[in-house]
Amino acid sequence: MNGQQRPILVAEGIHKSFGNLHVLKGASLKVAPGEVVTLIGASGSGKSTFLRCMNLLETPQDGFLEINGRRFGFSQTGAPPRDRELVALRRDVGMVFQHFNLFPHMKVIDNIIEGPVQAKGIPIGEAREHALDLLSKVGLADKADVFPSKLSGGQKQRVAIARALAMKPDIMLFDEPTSALDPELVGEVLGVISDLARDGMTMILVTHEMGFAADVSTRVGFMNNGVMAEIGTPDEILHHPKNERLRSFLNRFH
Ligand code: ADP
Ligand code: MG
Repeated sequence: MNGQQRPILVAEGIHKSFGNLHVLKGASLKVAPGEVVTLIGASGSGKSTFLRCMNLLETPQDGFLEINGRRFGFSQTGAPPRDRELVALRRDVGMVFQHFNLFPHMKVIDNIIEGPVQAKGIPIGEAREHALDLLSKVGLADKADVFPSKLSGGQKQRVAIARALAMKPDIMLFDEPTSALDPELVGEVLGVISDLARDGMTMILVTHEMGFAADVSTRVGFMNNGVMAEIGTPDEILHHPKNERLRSFLNRFH
């Protein structure tokens, strides 16, 4: 990250255990506004857990987070964040998951307006208008009134992206957004994410799509064993890796 810029997100020394399993062992990351940071690393290295800590779907046991100037400190003995703080934080940080998580009993449009109407108190008419704009943006203007079961995986994921954007987040987190898709549907979802990057959305994204990571990322971070083992430009990380583990990880993709 450029040293002069004030970061929009700081995660510093994050620790997270599940029972006896110490997953995050001091993971850190600083992200400047408008950056696209891709996290790579072996399965089980803690990428999803780290991402989930960034919007407090998981509460770390040590370290601190600062998002948009809002600071959260964590310790074994300290009080967990209050609900009001969680709600405020999650408004700023949108998340898209591998498995879409759409509400199956709601039409596409209702999936999208649910958050703005229920959590932010946006009037329904205004929320619908914004939702229709977002659906056009992800190329699904004609799907407002269908149920998720009628959509392909790629379309579901684009609705999930529109739903996260409907909350007008400042940061978007993507956890392997294309891993559950048939190969021929991956491109349409990556296309939408590239458009967001071009529009200047700050994003942190876990992916195994190395070509895509190279194209859209301002930086790539390699997670290993619960820490950020190496981070740099896509060229530094993907073509001139220093860390031995990173080298062997990348060899699997050749
Ligand atoms: P990655 O996304 O890099 O594959 P994860 O963050 O999903 O890694 O998982 C790291 C480790 O933490 C794994 O061993 C996983 O089984 C474990 N883990 C993740 N979430 C939980 C949970 N809620 N309860 C128990 N163990 C978990
Ligand atoms: Mg994961």
